[in-house]
Amino acid sequence: MHLRDRGKCGVVKKVYIFPPPLLNSYVENLCADFRAMGYDAHTGTYRRVPRGFRSDTVVVSWFENAMFKRGRPTVYGVFASLLKLLFLHARFRRVVLVRHNIVPHGASVRWKWLVDFFYKFCDEKVAHNYHEDYRPIPHPRYRADAGDCSCDGGVVPLARPGEIAIFGRIVAYKRYEAWFDVLPEDRDILVFGEAPDKTYLEQLQTVARSRRGIRIVDNQPCDRCAAAAITSCGTVFVANDNERALVSGSLIFSLELPVTILVPAGKSLGLYGHITPSDTAEGLGMAATHPVEALEQQATNAWRDVLQ
Ligand SMILES: [Zn+2]
Repeated sequence: MHLRDRGKCGVVKKVYIFPPPLLNSYVENLCADFRAMGYDAHTGTYRRVPRGFRSDTVVVSWFENAMFKRGRPTVYGVFASLLKLLFLHARFRRVVLVRHNIVPHGASVRWKWLVDFFYKFCDEKVAHNYHEDYRPIPHPRYRADAGDCSCDGGVVPLARPGEIAIFGRIVAYKRYEAWFDVLPEDRDILVFGEAPDKTYLEQLQTVARSRRGIRIVDNQPCDRCAAAAITSCGTVFVANDNERALVSGSLIFSLELPVTILVPAGKSLGLYGHITPSDTAEGLGMAATHPVEALEQQATNAWRDVLQ
């Protein structure tokens, strides 16, 4: 089989996925999904693109992140991104950009125009939710039960039934402290995740001490242990950064688990379902989500269209 034969019957099409697996398992999961669909999928870096990919498709996530440093675009970043785009178009037949955020986390939304500009130069724009003229495709499923535990599992024995779990990176832009007042007072709260900003972590711990029943664990367990901890709690609160993000990784992760998902009232779940009012607290809603199998099928159909 030769790459140039692509398009003839029975020939496996190649798909390259950038960037390589980072902090979460998104890239690995997308790659596994493409393989399950019959594509010859690979992950990699800009520096290590094997020869022969000229006739194939590249799917790039978080393209805009490299343009920004500490929340602001840099001249070097913008210039390098321009070169990257030219490189992608030179090396691949189709360039697909996946928009995860309106602007990178920590950046002001006034830079949306700059990110929008770069996304004009691709063959297909994808978002994992409804967004402008992007093709909406459900997010790859997390496989929390796949593989062995790869962490010390520190948070798992801590989780108690009846607690509300809040998980994910503990970072200032998520403003967890604002949600402590909205969540029902009679419920304990377990916050866990990696806290790269120790100043914010200390601030949050100070706020937590002023209210009974909030525990903050600076620990990022593996997906399997995170799932076990959230499932023990039975309820999870997902506070999406709707101003900047198009979909919350915490929501996608929680869809897989037999738990009640609380969300801020008045927001939208978009592709993933709808929000019903919660009788427990004002300002809170409950997520009525579509079955994960249906979302997965929808994603498969849409990706087949994109990876034509
Ligand atoms: Zn683990």
